[in-house]
Formats: sequence, C-alpha cells, structure tokens
Amino acid sequence: MRILVVEDEIKTARYLKRGLTENGFAVDIVHNGRDGLSMALGIDYDLLILDIMLPGMDGWAVLTEFRKEKKQTPVIFLTARDRVDDRVKGLHLGADDYLIKPFAFSELLARIHVIRRRGPVQQQDRIVIADLKIDLLSHRATRAGEAVELTQKEFSLLSLLAQRSGQVLSRTMIAEHIWDINFDSNTHVVDVVIRRIRAKIDDPFPVKLIHTIRGVGYVLEQRND
Ligand code: CA
Repeated sequence: MRILVVEDEIKTARYLKRGLTENGFAVDIVHNGRDGLSMALGIDYDLLILDIMLPGMDGWAVLTEFRKEKKQTPVIFLTARDRVDDRVKGLHLGADDYLIKPFAFSELLARIHVIRRRGPVQQQDRIVIADLKIDLLSHRATRAGEAVELTQKEFSLLSLLAQRSGQVLSRTMIAEHIWDINFDSNTHVVDVVIRRIRAKIDDPFPVKLIHTIRGVGYVLEQRND
C-alpha cells in the first residue's frame, strides 16, 4: 500500500514517514499543496494524508481539485483545527476521515485500516488462499498451519498479491505499491523479493501458489493442475 503525505511541518512529516514505513507502507512526502496535487494526480496512490494549512494551496483546495479529476483515492485530513464546521467541510469536499493534531499514531493506523476495509480491493483483515493464511492486522502469515517469518517488504508484497489473488500484477505495478518514489526503477528487486517469499511459502510445499507469467509479472492463486 502506497501513501502520499502532504504536510509542511518537517517534524510531523518525518514522524509520519517513519511510523508508516515501519508499518509496511510505502510513503512519499511532499511539503506543499501544489506538489501534493501533482503527485496525487500523477501516481496511483492507495491513500492520501493531507494537512489543511499548507503554503500556496491549502488542503481544501488540493482535495477539491483532486476530486474534480474524478479521483476516488481515499483521503484523510490532518488538521490542527478542531472546529466542527471544519470537519464537516472536509467531509463535504470528499475526505474520508480526519484526524486532529496532535494525534496518536495508533489512531492513524486504526483509521487507515478502516478505510482499507471499505476500499475497492478485497480488503479484509484475513486472507485465506488454499492453506496459506495472511492476517493483515497482526502481520502474520502461516502456510499449512506453520508460521512463516517474513520481513516487512516480503509481507507487504505477499499481501498485495494475495489481496488481488487471480490477478496478474506487473513488476512495475508491484514496485509502485511496495516502494516509495526514491526506489530505483530497477524492477529486478521485485524478482529478488519474490524469490525470498517463494523460498518460505512455496518451496517447502508441493502445491505452488505464486506463479510467474513470463514477460508480464506474477500472480498468486491456487491452481488445480
Ligand atoms: Ca500545516
């Protein structure tokens, strides 16, 4: 899951970047509204976290322009204001939620999970494919009842494939969802992480779940052949 954070306070932006990265999200940060809008329109993010008071173009204006382009990406407003009419205004403009600063990081995570659950992709807390089980909240995976130890990136990539089980995902699409903008566009890294995941969830078992589609990418599904 890839998130854009638009926040002009460097300290808050860093705090968000660190916390979200630690929780397995790919995070891009920009510090003003105009950059935020152009990034949000140019890249297919899964979530925008938008401060309201921003230099140049405020969060209201960014959201208004963004929704005008028929973009449905969920948006969480971050605001130092706590006036009821500000919250109502945000929700009217098409924000999905808002959080009042200062906030506990756990609260932000909880809201992200709520938004993910009602998103368009298969967004439940637990995914089961054959004997592979993935718990998205506790970040645990098991195959045939055995716990599988995965790094944060491995877990993110496996979850992405599992949430779109049956769909072929290109290396570029995977890279865009799992790594942030500073990621070198060499998609070979995707293959490396896939190999590591396979060594853990597929190699020890007769039934393989991750399949390579030559020249295209990868798909995770149960096949009966
Ligand atoms: Ca601000």
